[in-house]
Amino acid sequence: MKKEELEAQGYKTYENEDIQVFWKPRICQHAGECARGNFNVFNPQRRPWIDLSQAPATEIADIIDRCPSKALQYELLNPISVVFEEELDRAAAYDRGKLIGECEFEDSDNRWIIMHTGVREAYEGKGIARKLVLKVIEAARAKGVKILPVCSYAKKLMTGKEEFKDVI
Ligand code: SF4
Repeated sequence: MKKEELEAQGYKTYENEDIQVFWKPRICQHAGECARGNFNVFNPQRRPWIDLSQAPATEIADIIDRCPSKALQYELLNPISVVFEEELDRAAAYDRGKLIGECEFEDSDNRWIIMHTGVREAYEGKGIARKLVLKVIEAARAKGVKILPVCSYAKKLMTGKEEFKDVI
């Protein structure tokens, strides 16, 4: 509902499965609060200038709350978000900004060795571990690196599966 209302008011929509972000260029003051919050998400020199894959949905929502003109607005679709954190060699799952799971790997000779996949007990059984491994696979494909799944969960998920043969 919010999406239709805002689009009727001239907002453009950017969305993924976790969050919808709306931006109205005509009222943006170009004050840069959003870019200062996270330049990987809000980069005015890039097209499209908003990339929602670069941060957890809740972090994006926190930044948008600081937009002085309300040119940016959002709707959280899923409080749990899974993101790839290259600098930490992992994919991580967050619930409203709280770390609730991770899939960690070691980078060895252009091969990512998945050492551990884990989700906090209260969040088990929701498919989060699978999403974490898939997030690492997605990033590996994008970078052209191979994966060696050592952790038992990732190994079971990937071994012998046609859909993952290209990255193993
Ligand atoms: S914080 Fe809001 S007003 Fe400032 S540049 Fe970003 S979208 Fe525009």
